[in-house]
This record gives sequence, structure tokens and C-alpha cells, in this order.
Amino acid sequence: MSTPYWVAGQPATSEDRVEVRSPHDGALAGVTSHASALDVERAVSAAHAAAGGFAVLPAHARAAALDHVSRRLAERADEVAALITAESGKPVRWARVEVSRAVSVFRWAAEEARRFSGELQRLDTDPAATGRLALVRRVPRGPVLGIAPFNFPLNLVAHKVAPALAVGAPIVVKPAPATPLVALLLGELLAGTDLPAGSWSVLPVPNEVAGALAEDPRLPVVSFTGSGPVGYSIQERVPRKHVVLELGGNAAAVVCPDWTDLDFAASRIATFAMYQGGQSCISVQRVYAHREVYPELERAVVAHVRGLGVGNPADPATDVGPLIDEAAARRVQEWVDEAVAAGARVLTGGRRAGAVVEPTVLADVPPGCRVVDEEVFGPVVVLAAVDSTEEAFDRVNASRFGLQAGVFTHDVRLAFRASVRLAVGGVVVGDVPSFRADQMPYGGVKESGSGREGVRAAMEDLTEQRVLVLTGL
Ligand code: NAD
Repeated sequence: MSTPYWVAGQPATSEDRVEVRSPHDGALAGVTSHASALDVERAVSAAHAAAGGFAVLPAHARAAALDHVSRRLAERADEVAALITAESGKPVRWARVEVSRAVSVFRWAAEEARRFSGELQRLDTDPAATGRLALVRRVPRGPVLGIAPFNFPLNLVAHKVAPALAVGAPIVVKPAPATPLVALLLGELLAGTDLPAGSWSVLPVPNEVAGALAEDPRLPVVSFTGSGPVGYSIQERVPRKHVVLELGGNAAAVVCPDWTDLDFAASRIATFAMYQGGQSCISVQRVYAHREVYPELERAVVAHVRGLGVGNPADPATDVGPLIDEAAARRVQEWVDEAVAAGARVLTGGRRAGAVVEPTVLADVPPGCRVVDEEVFGPVVVLAAVDSTEEAFDRVNASRFGLQAGVFTHDVRLAFRASVRLAVGGVVVGDVPSFRADQMPYGGVKESGSGREGVRAAMEDLTEQRVLVLTGL
């Protein structure tokens, strides 16, 4: 049976069948279909038509719908996690974490929907405005096109859908081609709410159709999470739209000489460099450790990485499963080989079998290698010793990306300095850059994108201020 896609809140199927297979063993995870041209048009025109009414739907109604989705997701957590694993190859232990995060995203969006208001601003600080007052409300910029990547096929769809529904902006969401099934299951949960027809659609479509959707003037906001080349090409094509770009990174961790628990730092680095095969935009790719602590850290990172479970993603003991496809694994292997040919040392890993890349730790990587300069998006971490924390900060900043950085220090002044010095969207002190709480503002600088997610931040991004000036008060 073909899993339906969702057009203006209603299920639909087409003749254009899509088989979704596990990157682990090619097993069929499910079957769906590409949305037909007619259904794409129906979804967009319904979103356009629904915008006015949805923007004024009472907050309690929006919050109730979001709470419903949160609860139903929590009830079906095991099934949803298994589906994520089946279609993406994500180890089930990480799939479970992803589901619980999405549960929080919807719950948080429900709470924010209840309290999201504007501001009352006095204007009589200026003599010319005596007797006047401004009400500053936030109103949706309009219907949103959400485009999601494969690596968090549920939670990053949740980060598109929940804030849009919380502010009353209709959304048409397009899941990644490799992972449409869990987004369609989310549609099933949304269909159990009283949200107005037209306020949401979930459309698996080929990239050309997604490109045309991005250009459709009836969807004035494009919220994109994915790779830089695709994100920037969309932005260039629609210069007049409000485009949110959540792009890639090559996140770094800095280990300062005052950090006492090197085994903890090493364990966190090993886990979050490799988890879900390194396919996270903030997985630890680069580590800069002070020379005083480097040898011990290197030994401990290698030991922890060797202890990770590799293989079948359905096994709860597995940390590192396959990459999304064999082509991705071949590319990662090529980048590792390039570094080795240039003189890098492989401390562990370094080989590939099908779509699985062994968790790989490299040291002595010369400048100019792609494993340092580009986003690996694979289970590879590069360790380097530095002479000072300032040098480490410089090397973190010597990247065209800037999503998050982690700094292992106990020194609060250094923590503050890191947040001033590091050109990133967020600094995590005492942990790896991969820490993300879904309600905090999240996003990048430089080529990691623009705009912020995190429920509240996304709600602000999807709305604009509208001022009402009252006179004669
Ligand atoms: P991708 O850029 O290949 O695809 C992302 C989405 O864009 C997919 O849905 C894809 O089908 C769609 N797409 C591709 N071509 C398109 C076109 N011409 N027009 C419209 N849509 C098009 O990225 P991916 O491989 O799915 O995901 C990995 C990337 O996402 C990595 O770079 C990763 O760092 C990034 N990412 C960023 C964040 C963040 O929050 N900053 C989070 C997760 C992933």
C-alpha cells in the first residue's frame, strides 16, 4: 500500500510511485508517490487562500493542535523511531532521541503559541508624539515553503511545521527524497487536529518541482535546511522573498589546558563526531587541543571511538550505521584518502564497506585538505595540537562556516571571551558543539546560513512587526 502524501490536510496519492529503501540493507522501508502537478497546485492555492483566516485563528486552537501532535508522537515513539531507522539508516538509539526532540518541539510550539504576543511601546518620550502609543504586533509574513534535509527527517520537518502553525502561517513542507515516510506520518498526526484546511501540506516532490515551488509568489517565505549550494541557489533565484537558510558546517571543539576531565571531553568528542555517521550539521569535525593536554586527549578519543558500536542501525547498541547512500560513503573515503596522501596519520578507522565508513580519527592533517576545510558529513574527526587557546580560536574561525563551537574550559572569563571571539551562531562551554536544545536560537553565520530556528526564534523569523499607533491618549 502506498503511503499517502498530504494536500491541504487531505491524503492523496499519484501514479508516480516512490520506493524508499534502507541504506543499510536495501530493505523496502515503504512506498509513497510524488505529488502530482495538480496536487502541488492545490496545496499552494489552498495555503494562499487559508493565510488570512489562519493568521487570526485563536491561539488556543493553534496550541491545542500542536499539543495533540506532540502527544500522539510521544505515544507512537517506538514506531516512529523504527520508521526513521528503516528509511534513513539512523541508529535506532539516535532515532529515539530524535523523536523525543520532536515531541518537545511541538509541545514548546504550543506553549509559545499561547504567549507569543507583541509589545506595547510608549511614544511620548518625544514631545511630538505626546498622547500617542504604539501596539507592535507580530503578523505572519505569509505562507511558508519548508524544505528539509534527510539527516533529521522528523525533527527538522518539525522545526519547519511547528513554528509556522504556532504563528498562524500556512506551510507546505517538502521532505528530503531519501526520507519522506516519517514526514508523511507526521501528516497523519496533523490530520487528527482541527487545523483549517489549507494550513498545511506535506509534498514529496522531485527537486525541480521544489525549485518551482520556491519561485511561486504565493509562498513568500522559504525556510530551507540543507546544503549551501542548494540553499544559495534558491536564495539567488528569489531575491525578493524572505529566505531562511540553515546550512552546513565543520564544527570545532577547543580543549583548553585548564580542563580537568579529559576522559569526559574525549568521550563526548568521540560520540558526537561519529553519531549517526557524522551526518549532523554540528557533529564534531575538528578538535584543537592545547599541547599540554593533547597526548592524553588523543589517546582517550581513539579509545572511545574504538568502543563505538558500528553496523546494523536497528540494533540498539549501534552508534554508527551507514551513511545515507554508498555514494556519500565513497566521497568521505575519497576525502580521507586525500588527507592520508598529503601526510595525515590515521589513528583509527579509515576504511569503508558499502555505505558504512569506519569511525575515523585523523591527526597531522596538512592545510588545504577537504576533511578540514569542507563539511565532511561523515564519521571523521581531525585532531590538532595548538600552542594557545588564542591559536585554537583563530583556527576555529579559519573556516568559511560558523554554526556552533564547543569550548572545554572551567574559566568563566575564557568562556565569555570565546563567545566574543568565535564567529559562530552559538558557543557551548563544557561540551561539544553538537549540543542543541530545540528551544534555543540555532543557526549559523558566514556560509552556515542566515536566520534562526529554535521554536521561538523561528516564530519571530516567520513573522514581521506591524505597528498600530493610537492617538489622543
Ligand atoms: P541537500 O541540500 O542536498 O537537500 C536539502 C533539501 O533540498 C532536500 O529536501 C532536497 O530534496 C532539496 N533540494 C535539492 N535541490 C533542490 C532544488 N534545486 N530546489 C529546491 N529544493 C532542492 O541537503 P541534504 O543532503 O539533504 O542534507 C545535508 C545538508 O544539510 C548538510 O550540508 C547539513 O549540514 C545541512 N543541515 C543543516 C542544518 C542546520 O540546521 N543548519 C541541519 C541539518 C542539516
